[in-house]
Amino acid sequence: MTIPYQPDEPGNAPAPLPPAIVSAILRDPDSPLYPSQIGVFCDDCGTEVSGDYMVSTEQTSAERLEVARAHLRTQGWVSTAAGDFCPPCSVSHPSEPRLFHLQRDHDVSGVSGTGRVANGVLWPDGTVSLRWIGERPSTVHWDRLADAEHVHGHGGATRIVWADEQP
Ligand SMILES: [Zn+2]
Repeated sequence: MTIPYQPDEPGNAPAPLPPAIVSAILRDPDSPLYPSQIGVFCDDCGTEVSGDYMVSTEQTSAERLEVARAHLRTQGWVSTAAGDFCPPCSVSHPSEPRLFHLQRDHDVSGVSGTGRVANGVLWPDGTVSLRWIGERPSTVHWDRLADAEHVHGHGGATRIVWADEQP
């Protein structure tokens, strides 16, 4: 019997089932399906979301967890090799490397110039690589996006512009 779940098909993610359907399936002794409460933690802030999902006795525990993850992805969660992240935390843990540049609107120091001053990548594990543009380019790496924003925010004079948010 095939597992009634295709993780690669958008829109086919199973949602938590109403109790009437769950009990109807439970009355069928031939069905390998059974309801299971599965909780998924955000690996950043610790938020947990649990729900009842229909899983199969023919699924491994990893496949059962993936049933819950597939549903949460439709709710804005991101699951990567680095972990599972709730919608607010998913901003700093994209499923794919995310490109941005630093745009300096006002040159506070008077020597750095304005415009695009650096190109960067936000990696799925939440770390940030940044390559400065200029006569002496250098590359820096931060453990988290918030550090990059803090160090180079210049009180709002320098801002992050995401490549996938440009008009
Ligand atoms: Zn979170």
